[in-house]
Amino acid sequence: MSSNNSIKQRRTSVGVPVGSVTIGGSSPVVVQSMTNTDTVDADATIAQVAQLARAGSELVRITVNTMEAAKAVAEIRAKLDDMGCDVPLVGDFHFNGHKLLPAYPDCAKALSKYRINPGNVGKGKKRDEQFATLIETACKYDKPVRIGVNWGSLDPEMLARIMDENAKSSEPQDAGFVMREALITSALESAAKAEEIGLARNKIILSCKVSGVQDLIAVYRELAACCDYALHLGLTEAGMGSKGIVASTAALSVLLQEGIGDTIRISLTPEPGGDRTREVIVGQEILQTLGLRAFVPLVASCPGCGRTTSTYFQELADSIQTYVRDQMIVWRDQYEGVENMNLAVMGCVVNGPGESKHANIGISLPGSGESPVAPVFVDGEKTVTLKGDNIAEEFRQIVDQYVQDKYPKKA
Ligand code: SF4
Repeated sequence: MSSNNSIKQRRTSVGVPVGSVTIGGSSPVVVQSMTNTDTVDADATIAQVAQLARAGSELVRITVNTMEAAKAVAEIRAKLDDMGCDVPLVGDFHFNGHKLLPAYPDCAKALSKYRINPGNVGKGKKRDEQFATLIETACKYDKPVRIGVNWGSLDPEMLARIMDENAKSSEPQDAGFVMREALITSALESAAKAEEIGLARNKIILSCKVSGVQDLIAVYRELAACCDYALHLGLTEAGMGSKGIVASTAALSVLLQEGIGDTIRISLTPEPGGDRTREVIVGQEILQTLGLRAFVPLVASCPGCGRTTSTYFQELADSIQTYVRDQMIVWRDQYEGVENMNLAVMGCVVNGPGESKHANIGISLPGSGESPVAPVFVDGEKTVTLKGDNIAEEFRQIVDQYVQDKYPKKA
C-alpha cells in the first residue's frame, strides 16, 4: 500500500527470498528485529523470538557467537516450528562464523540468512579465505547473506588504503567523506567477491550502518545510486527512548521517502526491564505513518490542554491504542484490511468532532465546562452519545462491531 504518491519507486531489481519473506524487488519493506538473549539459553531465546514475531517482526536475528550458541540454533528453530511460529531466523556472525557454520550444519540449515560483517571476518591473508568459507557455506545451503558493514568495525586495511588514496589525491576530501567511501567500498567489494565465489545476486543484501543521521542519509543515497542490491536500512546504536526513536525515524524517513531501503531494523537500547518489542512497533509505525505499509489501526489523539480536566482522556486514548494493537493479533487472521482502520480519541469539542469525522470511528470527550457526554462519529456521521462510567468499554464495543461489519471475513 502507498497512500503517498511522492514516495519514489524503489530501485532494487531483484528480490531476495529469506524463508517465507522476500526482501527487495517489488516486495513491501520488511520489518526485522534482533533478540538480546543469550542464544545458548534456548528457552529464553525462543520466548523472545516468538514475542518479537507476535509483535510483527517479519525476520528475527539471533547472535551466533560460540559453539554452544551454534548448537542451540537447530533446537530453537524446531521448537519455534512446533509452536507454529515460522518467522525466519537470521544468524549474526562475527570473527568465527567461518568456523561455526561449516562445523554445525544443522545450524547452517536452520538459519534463513547469514549476516556477516566484512570488518570482522579476519585479518591479512586469512580474511579472503575466511570470507570465502562463509560464502561457500551460504552457497552450499542456498542461503542469502547480508553483508553488513558498520562504521564501528570497518576493515582497518581497507580504511588505510582509502585514506592513503585520498591523501595522494589532488583534491583530498574530509574525514567524514573518507569514512563514507570506506563503508560503501567495503560493502560493494565484498558483494563483488561473494558473486565471484558463486553467490547469486538475488542472495545478497547490503547494509552500511552509522550512528549519525546525516551520515546515514549520505551513505545510503550513494550506495543506492551505485548498486541495485537489496538494502537493509538502520541507524546503528540509535540510543535509548525518545532519542533513539527520533534519530531512527528522522534518518529512515528521508531515505524511505526516496525509495531507499528494503528492510529496516530499529536499533533501540531498551530501558532496564523494557520491552524488546518496542523496536518492532517503532519500525511498523515509521512505515505506516509514511503510508508505505499498514500493520495496526492508527489512533489519532490530541495532546490535551487546559480544556481537559482529568487524566480520563489520556487513559482512554492509551487503552484504545493498546486494545487495537492486542486485538490485531486476532483480527489480522480474521478480517481483510482491518489494519487500515483509523480511530480518533479527542479531548474536547474544539477539534474533537472535526478530527473524529475524518476517522473511521472517533470520539470527542467532554472538556472542562462542556456537558459530560461523548459523541461518537462513525464514517463521519454522529451515531451515538456516550455518557456515564463505561465510556471506554462501550467505545471498544463500537470498534468491535465496526470491524465485524466493515471488513470482509478471511476465508
Ligand atoms: S482538542 Fe480540545 S483538549 Fe485537545 S488539544 Fe485541542 S483544545 Fe485541547
